[in-house]
Amino acid sequence: MLQFRNISFQYKHNDRTSPLIKSLDMNVHKGELISILGPSGSGKSTLFRLITGLEQPDAGEIRLDGRVFKSLLGRVGYMPQQDLLMPWRTVLDNALLPLELKGIKKEEARKEVLKLLEEFGLSGFEYHFPSDLSGGMRQRVSFLRTILSGADLLLLDEPFSALDAITRLSMQEWLLLQWEKRKKTILFITHDVNEALFLSDRILIVNGTPVHNLEEVQVPLGRPRTIQDLNHPALIQLKDDLLHQLRMKVSR
Ligand code: ADP
Ligand code: MG
Repeated sequence: MLQFRNISFQYKHNDRTSPLIKSLDMNVHKGELISILGPSGSGKSTLFRLITGLEQPDAGEIRLDGRVFKSLLGRVGYMPQQDLLMPWRTVLDNALLPLELKGIKKEEARKEVLKLLEEFGLSGFEYHFPSDLSGGMRQRVSFLRTILSGADLLLLDEPFSALDAITRLSMQEWLLLQWEKRKKTILFITHDVNEALFLSDRILIVNGTPVHNLEEVQVPLGRPRTIQDLNHPALIQLKDDLLHQLRMKVSR
């Protein structure tokens, strides 16, 4: 569904002398949930900025369903690292933004979104403002907005990293349900090994900089899964290996 071919990239206004991303290849297949795991500052968010077209690669090409586009912004659902909810809009009006941008009348868009709010655990909060919401609820509004973009490929950049551990777990479980139900393809950025293992079919590890080969780990768990599955000895070993790899990357 998504292919990186020989992508190289360097920020123009930056002290680095070597590129941040160098000759990178990557493949994402339809229906997969893939985590991109790496320490902060390693270039994970930049990968999403390249996919959306917010940054242009210096070399190589990015294909969606086999085609190269100038920008994928309207074709993929992008949930950036900070939730970009508009503080002056209600939950309902924040969520319906993608429909409004498509030219759907506000009244019609409201009707459509109202039907979904319950499923997203937001009923009763339709007319509240983002400042009234808990962190988990804000992320659900952002996610709903991302879903309403209608895109099949969703790019989620550390959506749960600011949440407390218990809320994070229930959001992870909820994300898996939504992913299964809606048959989306998801690329999920995280620096949390447990989160990557619990959610993903495959984990791509950012190998220090320049980002060149993403080491790939297949998660040996079926679905549906529970968080207890991570206590399996094989998973504990894998978790150790992943942590070790990430540490090595940081200390290099
Ligand atoms: P991550 O998401 O893994 O934390 P980023 O992709 O945000 O990493 O950043 C990778 C590197 O690129 C960092 O060293 C960061 O300082 C640098 N960087 C990020 N955005 C910009 C920018 N707009 N201009 C210059 N350098 C940037
Ligand atoms: Mg980032």
